[in-house]
Amino acid sequence: MTEKKAFITGITGQDGAYLSQLLLNEGYEVHGLMRRSASAHVATNRLDWLGITRDVHLHDGNLTDLSALIRTLQELQPTEIYNLAAQSFVKSSWQQPLLTGSVTGMGAANVLEAVRIVCPEARYYQASSSEMYGLIQEPVQSETTPFYPRSPYAAAKLYAHWMTVNYRESFGMHASSGILFNHESPLRGPEFVTRKVTDGVARIKLGLESELRLGNIDAKRDWGHARDYVRAMWLMLQQDEPDDYVVATGRTTTVRDMCRIAFEHVGLTPDAHLVIDPELFRPAEVDVLLGDASKAKDRLGWQAEITLEDMIAEMVDADLARLRQ
Ligand code: NDP
Ligand code: GDP
Repeated sequence: MTEKKAFITGITGQDGAYLSQLLLNEGYEVHGLMRRSASAHVATNRLDWLGITRDVHLHDGNLTDLSALIRTLQELQPTEIYNLAAQSFVKSSWQQPLLTGSVTGMGAANVLEAVRIVCPEARYYQASSSEMYGLIQEPVQSETTPFYPRSPYAAAKLYAHWMTVNYRESFGMHASSGILFNHESPLRGPEFVTRKVTDGVARIKLGLESELRLGNIDAKRDWGHARDYVRAMWLMLQQDEPDDYVVATGRTTTVRDMCRIAFEHVGLTPDAHLVIDPELFRPAEVDVLLGDASKAKDRLGWQAEITLEDMIAEMVDADLARLRQ
């Protein structure tokens, strides 16, 4: 039996796939929770893309089903648990606020309870989010900046975040929360703005589409690469003491400029193709996010390595390759 055994909820998502790859490289036995789908072959497409589907162990379950979580943890007795599963798309959270609360909020409480009941000595990671800062209370957000959530998603994440802090303080659990700013990759869901842009630019370049419809392009985000950010998650669980950490690049960029970077990568400009669609604006917007990851740098020795330009180029190239296939 290997000593290092990880259990990842959300293993089929962007971060779950990159984290699995990292943990396999570190010699872990990697297990993940996968919700049943009528199209199971689609559910593993990110793990397939990284070529690691056969290297991980997938377990049927759902974040809303505490019994499945308890039985799975009893069977596995993992040493590290990464709770990455969530209804993770902010815009959908206004359309499905109750589901978002059940999965993104209460789902984390279910995992914490399962850990507390079955394996309280295991280390726990909670995927918290910069969206919790919402209507920002300080121009640069750190671990001490007050939260002000601006969507049902952010409100659910805030509940999960404080439950993590409370389980640490109440029960002495090794529970840490990573307050991650937006992070992207070729495995990002196509509904998120970076991937929508890189896929759109690739389609325009190949003559498959002529326009790209976006909402609020004045919004600013601190965008990093998922490959960098999953390393921070792992580092948090290697510390003697659990804690909360901001993970960010320290640079913020408008959607407009990110879009320009993507078009320029293929020798085009947005002007002829970009259409602003009022339907794509949100009921409440998070105008700007900018993180200060000094604590992660000092304590974890972590910093972002991949630039926005390199990441967008990688994403556009991956989308071009996908479309050409
Ligand atoms: P994804 O949306 O790519 O992945 C979400 C994962 O959660 C998928 O594996 C999905 O499964 C799973 N899931 C959804 N609902 C359930 C459920 N009811 N039961 C079990 N599993 C479920 O997200 P990311 O990988 O980008 O993000 C990982 C985590 O980090 C999320 O919690 C997200 O909210 C958070 N986060 C992400 C940021 C980012 O910029 N990417 C920033 C800050 C936080 P399926 O494949 O079946 O849909
Ligand atoms: P979020 O920060 O988790 O909401 O990540 P997104 O990638 O979904 O959105 C980032 C920002 O891009 C938000 O401020 C959106 O309002 C803005 N945005 C502008 N147009 C679009 C669009 O067409 N799709 C998405 N997803 N976001 C858009």
